[in-house]
Amino acid sequence: MKNIHRLFAACLLLLVLLLLLPVAAWSRTTTYVVHVSVDGLRSDAVTILGHSNAPNFYRLRAEGAFTDNARTDVDYLGTLPNHITQLTGRGVGGSRGHNYKDNRFPPLLRTIHSNKGAYVASVFDVVHDHGLSTALFTSKEKFQILRQSYNSINGAMDQTGADNGRGKIDYYRYQEDTGKLIDDFIATMHIRRFNYSFIHLRDPDSAGHEEYWDVTPGSAYLKAVARVDRLLGKLLDFISRDRELAGKTVLIVTSDHGGTYGSNHTIVDGRKNYTIPFYVWGAGVPAGKDLYAMNRETRLDPGTGRPPYSAPIQPIREGDAANLVLSLLGLGPVPGSTINHAQDLRVTGEHSAISPVWLVLVLTLVFLL
Ligand SMILES: [Zn+2]
Repeated sequence: MKNIHRLFAACLLLLVLLLLLPVAAWSRTTTYVVHVSVDGLRSDAVTILGHSNAPNFYRLRAEGAFTDNARTDVDYLGTLPNHITQLTGRGVGGSRGHNYKDNRFPPLLRTIHSNKGAYVASVFDVVHDHGLSTALFTSKEKFQILRQSYNSINGAMDQTGADNGRGKIDYYRYQEDTGKLIDDFIATMHIRRFNYSFIHLRDPDSAGHEEYWDVTPGSAYLKAVARVDRLLGKLLDFISRDRELAGKTVLIVTSDHGGTYGSNHTIVDGRKNYTIPFYVWGAGVPAGKDLYAMNRETRLDPGTGRPPYSAPIQPIREGDAANLVLSLLGLGPVPGSTINHAQDLRVTGEHSAISPVWLVLVLTLVFLL
């Protein structure tokens, strides 16, 4: 009789365990990732502006994890090449790079693949092939190269599960005015809830090219960074107030290159050019953490240096973004990617493999049997 009671209790516990399984799996995975690249944002601009002029960047710092010492690609500092690095997880040059070095509006028939002579998969491919939705909101028209490369003609066949089609970007929007672009993102996201959104904000780069990357108080460049700060504030408010997005969304903010007073961003070994910020905020991301301190085993703060891709321990790079997005969504790496291919850049809090609830349940089960 006693054995039957034990068996019954054991079965009951097993049932509870099985019921908890999907909950545990689900609760570890982010459902939405918003990836923002602020064109031409050099790392020190936010600190120079200070809390009162950049309250939303400071909110990202206080509530999320970040570093002001991330790196661009090693050898290229152009808007398109560097954004393609963020979206493919590959460097620009070399046999394993994406090799897209042209920074101009692309010819109609060119794709990233035709330029390389081989298909270059992106974060859009992996997200879309898994049946999730994607969007690209850009403030520069030349991002058309991404639209051309991943449309229903030039995108690859679906690589997994149900066929979700060759067009990897579900929604593409070009709007030069970044205020309108963010409004459009929020309005569209209310309805369509893209699992992965990429947003490009041009303002600091545009101001930099007009009046240099001048960080003296009141400069056009700093005003542009402050404008981006207000746009980020809109995004943060939207995400944290939206019933569906709140608690399930991670926001990544990084940049394609910095810039200097006098020579813009063309000199590849210029420290102000290759030093960029990398912010992560949202579901599961601990507050007020330094990303290098969170990743001591796998990433090394490069100081003022410019480590090559061959360095044994890499700095945190803009190119980490693609595979970080995928790991947050519970998906594997971009095929052919080389940066963060192991998906070991950690941005969320400590997860013990066995949660305390599980431990108690398993121990009780063992005891009963
Ligand atoms: Zn740029």
